[in-house]
Amino acid sequence: RFTRATRISAIEISEIMQLTEKAAGLKVAGRDVVALTTGEPDFPTPDHVVEAAHQAALAGKTKYPATLGTAELRAAIAAANGVTAAEVIVTTGAKQVLANAMLASLDPGHEVIMPAPFWTSYADIVLMAGGTPVILPCGADLGFKLSPEALEAAITPQTRWLMLNSPSNPSGAIYSAAEIKGLAEVLARHPQVWVLSDEIYEHLSYVPFVPFTMAAPALKDRTLVVNGVSKSYAMTGWRIGWGVGPAELIKAMGAVQGQITSGACSIAQAAALAALTGDQALLDERRAVMLARRDRMVAGLNAMPGVTCPVPDGAFYVFPDLSEAIEKGGFASDAELCAWLLDEAGVAIVPGRAFGLPGHARISFAYAETDLIKGLRRMHAALETRL
Ligand code: PLP
Repeated sequence: RFTRATRISAIEISEIMQLTEKAAGLKVAGRDVVALTTGEPDFPTPDHVVEAAHQAALAGKTKYPATLGTAELRAAIAAANGVTAAEVIVTTGAKQVLANAMLASLDPGHEVIMPAPFWTSYADIVLMAGGTPVILPCGADLGFKLSPEALEAAITPQTRWLMLNSPSNPSGAIYSAAEIKGLAEVLARHPQVWVLSDEIYEHLSYVPFVPFTMAAPALKDRTLVVNGVSKSYAMTGWRIGWGVGPAELIKAMGAVQGQITSGACSIAQAAALAALTGDQALLDERRAVMLARRDRMVAGLNAMPGVTCPVPDGAFYVFPDLSEAIEKGGFASDAELCAWLLDEAGVAIVPGRAFGLPGHARISFAYAETDLIKGLRRMHAALETRL
C-alpha cells in the first residue's frame, strides 16, 4: 500500500486547478458552465514569439540547455534588471523559482512569512520544502497589505523569508514605495530574513508599479525577484520564468534545478527571449483591455446583493468580500457558496480559503468579455433568488 512522504502529506493539486477541472468535466458532460477560475490570459502568444520558437527548433536548439538558462536569455534578463548573468536563473515557469529557492534554503523549523491572501502555491511549496508557512491575514481594511508592525511581530530567529507579491494574486494590491520602505526598515533589523518579491504581474498594473529593489536597494543582497513571461506575454504553456538575486543563492538554486529538470526548455527560452526583446507595444494594449474588464467586473459585483468588491490596482483578478452573502444565504463557508454557484448558476470561481483568506472569492477576468458578462449575470440572478 502506498503511503505519502510526511513532506507532502497535506498537499493536493491546488483548489484552483481542481475547480477548473471540475468545470471542464461539467462542460464535457453537456452543462453550460462559465469558468472564471484560472489566471491565464485569453490572448494568444504573440506571433513573433511563436516564430522565434519555430526558428530555434529548426536551427537545432534542441539539445540540453545550460542548467541556469541560455546565455542569451540570461544576458537579456540581467540587462533589464541591471545585474550580472550570475545573478539570474531561468526556470520552468516562475513557480519553479519559488520551489528552487525554498528547497535551496529551508531546513525543518524554518519559517516563511506570507501575508494572506497569497497565491495558493506559496504555502504548499514551503511545506513541500520542509518549512513552516506563517500566514498573516491582511484583509480589505488593510488594503490586503502587510503593515510594518504586523511584520515585526511575526519575525522570529527562525524566519528565513518574507514572501511578497505585488501586484498580488488574488487581491491585485500593489505596494507603494513608501509601503515597501516601511517593511524594509523592519527587515533591516533582522538580517536573517530574506525577501522573495514576486513581480510576475508587473506589466499588469493600473497604478504605478514599484519594483521592490528600487524602493529598498539596501536589501538587494538578500532579495530574490521572481518574474516570467507567463502572464505578461500570454505564455503560460511555455513554462519560462526567472529569478534575480544574489549569486550565491542563484548558485544554490541552480544545484537544485540541475537535479530536478536540468534546466528550462531550450525552445521556450528562445521564445521568451523574443518576447523580452521584441515589440513591447502589446503590453500596453493588453493592459488597456484588462483595465476595461476590471471596471466592468467591479461594477457588476458591487451591484449584487451581499457582495462588496474593492478595486484591484493590478493583475487580472477581483477578490470580493462575500461574507454578507454567505451569512444571509445560509452558507457554511465561502467554499459552500462557490460550490452552490457552480451547481446552481453554472459559474466557477475560487473560494478565498484557497488563498488563506476565507469569506471571499477570487474571480479571474482574464477571459473573453462574453464569458465575463455571462458569469456576472448568472451570479447576480442566483444571489438574488437566495438572499
Ligand atoms: N506567481 C504568481 C503570483 C502567480 O499568480 C503565478 C501563476 O499563477 C506564478 C507565480 C507562476 O507562474 P508560472 O506559470 O510562470 O509558473
